[in-house]
Amino acid sequence: MNKLDLIFDQQHIWHPYSSISKPIACYPVIYAKGIYLTLSNKKKLIDGMSSWWSVIHGYNHPRLNRALRKQINKVSHVMFGGITHKPAINLCRKLVQIASKSNLECVFLSDSGSVSIEVAMKMAIQYWQALGKKKKFFLTIKGGYHGDTFFAMSVSDPDNSFHNIYYDNILIKNLFANAPKINFFEKWDKNDVNSFKKLISDHYSDIIAIIIEPIVQGVGGMKFYHPNYLKEVKNLSILYQIPLIIDEIATGFCRTGKFFAHEYANIQPDILCIGKALTGGMLTLSATLTTRNIAETISNGKSRCFMHGPTFMGNPLSCSVAVESINIIQDSNWKNQIITIEKQLKYYLSFLKNHRRVREVRVLGAIGVVECTHFIQLTLIQRFFVEKGVWIRPFKNLIYLVPAFIISHKEIKKLVHIIHLSLDYDIFFENK
Ligand SMILES: *Cc1c(COP(=O)(O)O)cnc(C)c1O
Repeated sequence: MNKLDLIFDQQHIWHPYSSISKPIACYPVIYAKGIYLTLSNKKKLIDGMSSWWSVIHGYNHPRLNRALRKQINKVSHVMFGGITHKPAINLCRKLVQIASKSNLECVFLSDSGSVSIEVAMKMAIQYWQALGKKKKFFLTIKGGYHGDTFFAMSVSDPDNSFHNIYYDNILIKNLFANAPKINFFEKWDKNDVNSFKKLISDHYSDIIAIIIEPIVQGVGGMKFYHPNYLKEVKNLSILYQIPLIIDEIATGFCRTGKFFAHEYANIQPDILCIGKALTGGMLTLSATLTTRNIAETISNGKSRCFMHGPTFMGNPLSCSVAVESINIIQDSNWKNQIITIEKQLKYYLSFLKNHRRVREVRVLGAIGVVECTHFIQLTLIQRFFVEKGVWIRPFKNLIYLVPAFIISHKEIKKLVHIIHLSLDYDIFFENK
């Protein structure tokens, strides 16, 4: 069957966060190149999402394609138990070099961001077990998002998150400090960290680890918080000797204007999770990095081993593409690229600031956010965006752009222009 069977798709295939009985329209993509997606009706869309922060160099990149083809002709997959290979060694050496400021020397490779979070949390648990301590909770902040698996859900926002509505009685109970109020651009007020401080001082002997998204709370509301908040969190983690897990899955690989967002606070994670843009969005891969101290404590403990080992761990295709994606970053002038995108987003989005539908616009690095006054009717606005030739996928009351770093001035201007047009349609907003 050559024709795309969209009826089959609707009746049999789950898409992210979707219903089989009330499926929402899906747009069939048949080709993608650079910043453009091509639909089956030949319509070309400017992609403002880079496939959820991941395709940072644009689609169908010749260097990534070449790296993949080269590796396919050698070995596409082989088990990682008792076997190793060059792509994994090359990638982990690169990651250790990049994270050298934080002395993160030991790498665990897995398949997706959520799994890298599970791995980080298991590392922290085994670390304390090795030291002979039984602890109960993870400490995090409200408004966070760390993935869709159970441990990850248990530290994602308890009030807001779609998960906890369904799984609340099953999830392990963790500690949630108030979300930071002072944003990235405001004057710091140290009271912002009071709730976090109180929780850690009341419960430190039961806290396994702190887990936090650095600077940007993504799915939790696309908020940018003050670097001093993260700095304080780090100071408290040192004071109470509790490992700090930094989730850079969305923010890593230059998105915010730093290679890692935690560099804004000039801090060092004890455990670092990366994913999404790690392979330039070409294949699925994630990594959890930690210090030699934590890795050796786990390894010298009772169990002696770290107890995790995915079937597709260290997949050679994913690793070789990740190496090449990092090469592309390192060969580029990414700092200038991001500063340019940031300036353009700031300039064009500023015209939307006073629109009656807009509560706030904000920009950090290659992230542009339009926070609207009301929740958005996704299906309707999505159709409008596609008709106008752009791919933007809002959630809740947020229309946001996280484009590939190769996006041009003209394309940014068009994306923002179409967002601007959409704001005038009352039908796109709930409780209009
Ligand atoms: C996307 C995301 C995850 C989960 O990654 P998946 O690859 O979707 O499992 C975890 N943390 C953050 C901050 C993310 O943005």
